[in-house]
Amino acid sequence: MTFNSGLDMERSYYFATANPFAPAPSLEGAQEADLLVVGGGYTGLSAALSAARQGMSVILLEAGRIGWGASGRNGGQIIPGWRKGAVELVKLYGETRARALFDISLRARDWLLSQITDNAIECDLATNGHLLAAAKPADLTWMHAEAETLERVMGYTHACVLGREETQAKIASDSLHGGFLDGLGGHLHPLNYALGLANAAGLSGVKLFEHSEVLSVSGERGVIARTASGEVKARYGVLACDALLGSLAPRIAGRIMPVANYLIATEPLPAPRELIADNLAVSDSRFVVNYFRISADKRLIFGGGERYTPHPPADIASFVRPFMLRIFPQLADARIDHAWGGLVSVTMSRLPHVGRMGDLFFAHGYSGQGVVLPAIAGAAMVEAMAGRSDLFEAMAAVAPVEFPGGAALRAPLHVLGMLWYALRDRL
Ligand SMILES: Cc1cc2nc3c(=O)[nH]c(=O)nc-3n(C[C@H](O)[C@H](O)[C@H](O)COP(=O)(O)OP(=O)(O)OC[C@H]3O[C@@H](n4cnc5c(N)ncnc54)[C@H](O)[C@@H]3O)c2cc1C
Repeated sequence: MTFNSGLDMERSYYFATANPFAPAPSLEGAQEADLLVVGGGYTGLSAALSAARQGMSVILLEAGRIGWGASGRNGGQIIPGWRKGAVELVKLYGETRARALFDISLRARDWLLSQITDNAIECDLATNGHLLAAAKPADLTWMHAEAETLERVMGYTHACVLGREETQAKIASDSLHGGFLDGLGGHLHPLNYALGLANAAGLSGVKLFEHSEVLSVSGERGVIARTASGEVKARYGVLACDALLGSLAPRIAGRIMPVANYLIATEPLPAPRELIADNLAVSDSRFVVNYFRISADKRLIFGGGERYTPHPPADIASFVRPFMLRIFPQLADARIDHAWGGLVSVTMSRLPHVGRMGDLFFAHGYSGQGVVLPAIAGAAMVEAMAGRSDLFEAMAAVAPVEFPGGAALRAPLHVLGMLWYALRDRL
């Protein structure tokens, strides 16, 4: 069984429509490089690509297949900003820092778009916007405050609030009460984006290894990592394992918590644009968020439902379908062709955890908003290795605190908290 092959990745829409990607070898024997990257998702691939372009020699070790973690399974939604909104960023950090943080997220978006263009990555990119739909009328109040703060503090003029009728003209659902439309949002095929980054990394000289799980790593005065059949010595390292970090780095494990999230893809729909106009990416304002969009071949890709136990539901399609029907009851007869899940890591503050332990850098915990941000986290870590640490320090400065109880107790305590918020959604 492949590392992290659980949650039916093989039955995902993305696996069924993946671009060809030649398997990489597994690591055998001893190797050396300027940089060792552990993890072949967006974080690891963008760090590897940035480093190779700076002239560093790079080895990337992936335990399973490239893109097989959250990066190849997610909703594909491109959402500008952070998991914390502009109003909260200003409250926490003041206007100047909040604006700087928001600008970092826009740089991440630019990086993502330029990688896709420069490397001709075929990943069904759509850039028509992201709509955050109001699940209850009261959401419109904070959505107005959000749009106002974005414009006044961040100088961002791409977002606006839509009323109930305008929203329902775009999304054919009576259950939505309005929405926050961000014109710089969009969506893509997440696995093909990851595979495209990997191809670009390979062409830039990165040595990729699959089926090469790192069993131990240390970052005191240089980095040494061991797999079952090999060893890499490097000047620097990047840990890019997100929810699959496991026990590889106990010092930082208590800052992130893996949560399972599930998706389905319907059969191709006869009139998808009647369901979602303008090819928008949509998510809603519930704590246990629903998110959906139309794929390039006209299916509804719908994510909804989280579980806080390591055990997936017996039937993922039956678990997610009711969430879809609550929003689109008109799809009661639509066949579900694909159903799968993935693990994402969340943090206490919902801001990512970026930092370093000696010569070992790490970035994880994007809390469900990790299609765009890993790009800049990767670049920030590589800049810091070259002695330019402004960007890295700005990201590291918003590091989340540990979950109560650390890695050992975070799960039961956090589950209680999550269940409380999930219950509030229902009420
Ligand atoms: C179901 C789901 C839906 C989501 N939807 C969205 C969305 O619509 N929009 C959005 O912005 N974000 C979304 N996210 C979040 C986003 O996918 C993640 O934040 C992002 O992919 C994290 O990328 P990463 O590279 O840090 O981690 P991953 O992509 O998880 O990659 C980590 C890699 O490290 C490897 N690894 C782990 N341990 C080892 C080891 N010891 N040795 C070697 N390799 C190792 C793993 O095999 C894995 O490939 C979603 C996540 C999930 C799970």
